[in-house]
Amino acid sequence: MRRNTHPQPLPCVDPIPSYAAAKQKGAAVQNNPHTTLITPDAPVATITHGGRAKCLQRLVRLDMPVPRTVALSFETVQAIADGHVPDIERILEQFDPTVLLCVRPSSEDPDWGGPGAVLNVGMNDARYVDLSDKMGADAAAALYLRFVQTYALHVARLDPDVFDDLLEDGQQGLSDTLRAYEEETDEPFPQDPGEQLAAVLQSMARAWDGTTARLLRQAKGAPADAGLGLVVQQMIPGLGRGECGSGVMQLVDPTTGQPQITGRYLSQSQGRDALGAGTGALYLARDERGPSLEDVAPEAYAELQQHAKLMRHKLREEMQVEFVIENGHAHILDGVRVPRSSRAAVQIAVRLAEDGIIPPQEALMRVDPHALNELLHRQVHPDAERDVLTTGIAASPGAATGQIVFTAAEAQASAARGEPCILVRRETSPEDVRGMHAAAAVLTEKGGMTSHAAVIGRGLGLPCIVGASGLRFVTKKRQLMAQDGRVFQTGDVLTIDGTSGQVLAGQPQMLEAALDDSFQTLMTWAEAECDIGIRANADTPADAQTAQNFNVQGIGLCRTEHMFFEPGRLTVMREMIFAQTPKGRAAVMERLLPIQRKDFVQLFRIMGGKPVCIRLFDPPLHEFLPTNRTGQRELAEALDLPVSDVERRVAAMSEYNPMLGLRGVRLGVTVPEIYDMQARAIFEATLEASQEGEPVVPEVMIPLVSACREVELVKTRIDAVAASVASEQGRDFDYRLGVMVETPRACLRADEIAPHCAFLSFGTNDLTQMTYGLSRDDAGRFMSAYVNQGVFSEDPFHVLDTDGVGELLQLGVQRGRESRPGITLSVCGEHGGNPESIAFCRAAGFDYVSCSPFRVPVARLAAAQLAISHQVGADP
Ligand code: PEP
Ligand code: MG
Repeated sequence: MRRNTHPQPLPCVDPIPSYAAAKQKGAAVQNNPHTTLITPDAPVATITHGGRAKCLQRLVRLDMPVPRTVALSFETVQAIADGHVPDIERILEQFDPTVLLCVRPSSEDPDWGGPGAVLNVGMNDARYVDLSDKMGADAAAALYLRFVQTYALHVARLDPDVFDDLLEDGQQGLSDTLRAYEEETDEPFPQDPGEQLAAVLQSMARAWDGTTARLLRQAKGAPADAGLGLVVQQMIPGLGRGECGSGVMQLVDPTTGQPQITGRYLSQSQGRDALGAGTGALYLARDERGPSLEDVAPEAYAELQQHAKLMRHKLREEMQVEFVIENGHAHILDGVRVPRSSRAAVQIAVRLAEDGIIPPQEALMRVDPHALNELLHRQVHPDAERDVLTTGIAASPGAATGQIVFTAAEAQASAARGEPCILVRRETSPEDVRGMHAAAAVLTEKGGMTSHAAVIGRGLGLPCIVGASGLRFVTKKRQLMAQDGRVFQTGDVLTIDGTSGQVLAGQPQMLEAALDDSFQTLMTWAEAECDIGIRANADTPADAQTAQNFNVQGIGLCRTEHMFFEPGRLTVMREMIFAQTPKGRAAVMERLLPIQRKDFVQLFRIMGGKPVCIRLFDPPLHEFLPTNRTGQRELAEALDLPVSDVERRVAAMSEYNPMLGLRGVRLGVTVPEIYDMQARAIFEATLEASQEGEPVVPEVMIPLVSACREVELVKTRIDAVAASVASEQGRDFDYRLGVMVETPRACLRADEIAPHCAFLSFGTNDLTQMTYGLSRDDAGRFMSAYVNQGVFSEDPFHVLDTDGVGELLQLGVQRGRESRPGITLSVCGEHGGNPESIAFCRAAGFDYVSCSPFRVPVARLAAAQLAISHQVGADP
């Protein structure tokens, strides 16, 4: 016997006694009280029977024409999965013995999914004969065939290719399929409806227990012990002379969320005798092919619309109505929350609130902050030149550019360095999920819309292309070969356009996400609810503009060193590094002053008077020096020095532990000319930008402090620069000096440091690195192993470690506030944009969090949800 060899969601478990065997032996079938006929008053609840069962009861209460339905509780289904034979007689006695049944999953939250529905349970040779008389042999054969195929694949778990050669439909197809089933299983297709139903229930119950199913639903937020309910419903055969068919209808477009009747309808009556043949389809929307349902069954169409509107109002949700038309009359099989894109989720929530169906606070609670990422993704600009290497399957929308990497570990290392990367894999597996989290986009050679990479990519809102077989993936050599002969290797830059499926060479111009009115409305409501500030980490005018577009409260971190990497500045920076004396360094810095001043004026102007927190120079100087011989030779040329001098200097500056070496405030103390220049640039820019509007009050932040004396030394110089700029220009100005708390010692000594400054901003990236003694740049190598083995529950660079790093933060907050009440406290590490970490920051009493501009809406919504939950006394 050949069993299904494809990966299946079903777990491998011992066979359980079949219903037939149990019946034959007279074994006691489990008489479970959790099998409930759905009536208006039946004890059915979402937490015991799942969302679908509860929803069906609501529809019954609304007097909708819902076919008879029995609900099986989570407990019952778990018992079935554990090997107990369900009380089939008790279920069957609720139905007319002539009807067919369908079984559907009913998990607590419909988004957690569940096994696919099984239709036409009860179909057998006798009913086939009976239905052939009523609906024609081919139509009856189609029903039977569909059931046998579903049963064979999902219940008997036969290999799908058993049926590959059976091309015929209709009666011939049916008898071929029944024969193939018997050959494969050595048993005839089960004829007893009770036996069929028992086997279907068992297979669905066990599918829910499978590892893949569990991982997928946990990724959607389901708890590990989430239960599955099942509903068994009478099927409406759609027999009669009038219009018959089935379909779904909703009042919105699930992609855009715009109000528009959409759906599909498959007619059985329009001159077609085979249900499911796909040809006689009638479309609901008039701009599709063929007549509309409204044309062929106007009354049923109007009824359906009424039902959909009533559901929207009474169930307070945009619902998809699953229906059957029989003889021109509508039956409602189910109402499910309209599946929706993230964009549509925002539209729908906002419109429900605007229509007074739900309050704005509830609209806010209904949008998953993580899902906003999808809305916020950039696209390739429509006018951009596209160097298309191949087109694969567009599996997850949005576009991203990055350096290609070929393993998940490389992706994590790349993310730890802050470099966007494209994860290139033949196909992905669960081991790659951490790497996918870290990547800007994913590209796979194999797979389709429901392959691992596609499902996970969409879940993460990560641009993703799968099935890009037009490229040769030579992963051993870490190469991608295009059909035109071009070869791309690790580090080369590609762009993934997950919206069109195109893989592009290089970095085309991008278009920022279009954020519509509903998004803006949602953000306005969120802003009104937030009780923690949200700022952006923005280093460039472009970043600042993006941040302003999201109406941030200010810039919480401007990493000024990024400004020095720009062409033209780098050489000056290098000259400064090579200068022998403080005087020489100051002279070179003079040349950088106007450039920096211009940078800051731009930032101040864009932010229009909102606070801008500028961090003084942070990285070790050798990051600015070339590492290879060619670069060193070029530098020697530019500085008119012998190459050996350059080599010597580079060697002299190298450090064993650069992240713990001469960087941050340590440079400020030992090479003060850099901070002097930066402070002057900030203050001169302050006066320049203040001429045009609100006076600018810049925030100057000292990085990597570990001792109070460091602050005193730097503060003295900065105050002196401020005084001299004010006297030179004859104008006064205010500024706020702050300390970046990112070493454990600074947290512990916050009481000593706080009196010297107006604010403390906690840099949780370095703080995490130093608390764990874990290199930000190297952790990717073993992070997956650590998380997989449960050493860390999450990557602490991604989600704040509230236990260890969190305790240091709490100490810092407490000690800082005690010694300087009223001091501003914030978090500006990556964690500032992570919804889970924001919950901690809010509870710890931080005034604001600062995160990358595109995470601002996510952070704001998360913060709003926390505030709302706090008001109503529940977790979000
Ligand atoms: C930090 O360390 O948390 C931080 C924000 O600074 P950077 O990432 O630039 O080191
Ligand atoms: Mg830092």
